[in-house]
Amino acid sequence: MESLAPVKIEVIHKRVSEIKISLIICFYLRASEVDIVPSYIHMHLLLSIFTRLIDAVFPSVCGGCGKSGGLLCADCIANVPSASPATQSFITAVFDYQNPIIRGVIWKFKYKNARGVAKYFGMALYDEIIGEIGDDIRISKNEVFLLVPIPLHAKRLRERGYNQSELLAREIIKYAKEQGSEKMFKLAPGALTRTRATKPQAKSEKRSTRFENLRGAFFAFPELVRGKHIILIDDVTTTGATLTSARKTLLKNGTKTVRAYAVAH
Ligand SMILES: [Zn+2]
Repeated sequence: MESLAPVKIEVIHKRVSEIKISLIICFYLRASEVDIVPSYIHMHLLLSIFTRLIDAVFPSVCGGCGKSGGLLCADCIANVPSASPATQSFITAVFDYQNPIIRGVIWKFKYKNARGVAKYFGMALYDEIIGEIGDDIRISKNEVFLLVPIPLHAKRLRERGYNQSELLAREIIKYAKEQGSEKMFKLAPGALTRTRATKPQAKSEKRSTRFENLRGAFFAFPELVRGKHIILIDDVTTTGATLTSARKTLLKNGTKTVRAYAVAH
């Protein structure tokens, strides 16, 4: 394999991807035809298991260098440029969303069931959080910081089968455990919910329209958020409208402090 020219390797990877997609479609059609799945949710589960099996047989390749083993290798992730500062000071993003590797990987993470990358992104987010507010966290010894992933509306969650921001928050908790700092963080995925489905943010949409569309888009459970320090977790932030709306809802419900971390900006 190593002796093949890069172009040939690229062709092979393209063929493998095509085979993967064909197999998944065949499986989906066959499963629906023989009616082995009682509901849409189960179909999602089966499809996800099947995708993982296929990935085990034909491992994914790194979006940056083409090395097999995952959608993003450690070398490439280390070379992705950092994000420029977000407009709102409570938001921190790790990677530059203009970078094509990051854009491609996040797209797969959101829409193509590429859940494996949550691990890399979760680690990067953890490092960013500790680097920025680690001292505050350590000083406030008895305080716990709640990790609240930006929720998807129930309808979109059903379509997609998973909330990518929740996967990120779970990975941060896992990594915190490995680092011995699990007591500092607690996952609170149910603290916020979406009250209505908002349209995916279009590129052409005006900044003011984005903020308007997201007004009142969230609901917070007061008993879960009152008096707490909350860290919001999201995959991508562009104008910061989503995170700003979520933060407002939390503050209205008595949350003490709100910071937000996103994979890319
Ligand atoms: Zn790579």
